[in-house]
Amino acid sequence: MKTMTFEIFIEKVRSYNPDAVEMVTKAYKFAEAMHQGQKRQSGEDYIIHPLWVAYILAELHADCDTLCAALLHDVIEDVKIPKEEIAKMFNNTIADLVDGVTKIEKLNFFGYDKSDLYYASTRKLIMGISQDVRIIIIKLADRLHNMRTLEFKKAIKQKEIALETMKIFAPLANYIGAYRIKEELEDLSLMYLDNEEYKKYEDMRMNLESESRPILEEMVYNIRNILNANDIPNEIKIRLKNIYGIYKKISKGATIKDIHDLLMLKIMNETVKECYVSLGLIHSIYHPNNRIKDYICNPKINKYQSLHSTIIAPGGRFVQAQIRTYEMDEVASFGLTTYWHIHKGEARNIMQQDLKKYQFFDSLVEIDEMFGNNKEFVEHVEKELFTDQVHVYTPKGTIILLPKGATSIDFAYKIHTQVGNRMNGVMVNDEMVSKDYILQNDDVVKIITSDNSEGPNEEWLNAAVTSLARKRIKETIRKKASYGV
Ligand code: MN
Repeated sequence: MKTMTFEIFIEKVRSYNPDAVEMVTKAYKFAEAMHQGQKRQSGEDYIIHPLWVAYILAELHADCDTLCAALLHDVIEDVKIPKEEIAKMFNNTIADLVDGVTKIEKLNFFGYDKSDLYYASTRKLIMGISQDVRIIIIKLADRLHNMRTLEFKKAIKQKEIALETMKIFAPLANYIGAYRIKEELEDLSLMYLDNEEYKKYEDMRMNLESESRPILEEMVYNIRNILNANDIPNEIKIRLKNIYGIYKKISKGATIKDIHDLLMLKIMNETVKECYVSLGLIHSIYHPNNRIKDYICNPKINKYQSLHSTIIAPGGRFVQAQIRTYEMDEVASFGLTTYWHIHKGEARNIMQQDLKKYQFFDSLVEIDEMFGNNKEFVEHVEKELFTDQVHVYTPKGTIILLPKGATSIDFAYKIHTQVGNRMNGVMVNDEMVSKDYILQNDDVVKIITSDNSEGPNEEWLNAAVTSLARKRIKETIRKKASYGV
């Protein structure tokens, strides 16, 4: 890994936020003095760690308070500087951020050991998102740097931390739309959890890259020509799926040829209109295989927007074209953190408000309210939010996200308790299915309700997967029993 110095870091900050340089320098000097003499397991000076964390955040164009908090994130825990002193020297926001990160810091020391303390701090970490999402973003940058330097830990510790990263941190990064961090966390976790498999897929990806590069470059050249000829400003990049993404698909039985988003071309335009025109022009030179998704009209739940079309490359291989505006591309790479860039001063409030529009946020609050016990809370979040999800649509085109294995009953209760209780039949993609039908990606689900519905019973309870549906069903059954219906 390349080295990090204060000069490299501060130049990065100056490039997008020169007003922050003075305060950030002060935070660095203070942290450096406080960590004086302290070493990391790698033998480096300790200050290198907070410096890297702050640099990762500067790459995301984080605001001044976040950068300062990143530099100071270990001073309460490690050098016992009271929160009040940070507030006095800097400001209350920075003190709150450092304190927030410190409270969940203990996770690092307990690993995946199933103690009460582990569950309590994991809950704090997850719910921290509802207080100030910047705490989570600092924590993600902290974890990313720890994962990049995991080679200096003992083997058993490496596996514990990698497992926790895979189960908690990568899904969190995905939920806030920080795809770049998510992909790097996944790949690093796999490297420590199953090194043989990691090496195998790393080789596979490298071979694929060198083998398909000439074809991809030819496609970039042709697409650029046709867009330029039609006066559409554009920038095109070649991308490959991450190692973990390939591993996951293939270990589930797919072959390299089946993966339609293994090779990707990212085409960026200035306006939405140009994106649609680009799609048409690309189809005029490369045949689509009719796997087209319009995430511009129907954004993903983490705000991702893009047009996707799988096109057939010379030689017959699938290539996924992803067409979006430059602004959509920033959201695609950095998710919520993009708000730092787009909304400068007001970023924090907008970020926090926007978070409430994310579907997973409602589910998180529901699960938090439902389970007093920390262990149950963490287990349900893992089971319902952090596992693979299916996305289905209402007849009006709203995307609904549910855990894999969820049924029509879960869908109905997710829409509304009364839709669930009055459910009389289900249509999926215009065909009648049974109530315990297991939802598949892209299904369009229509719940038929009736006042004559018999309402929920034990069978429904067995077919429901989500805690929300199960809770509502139990409540309704209990009410029915007490009214003697
Ligand atoms: Mn740290």
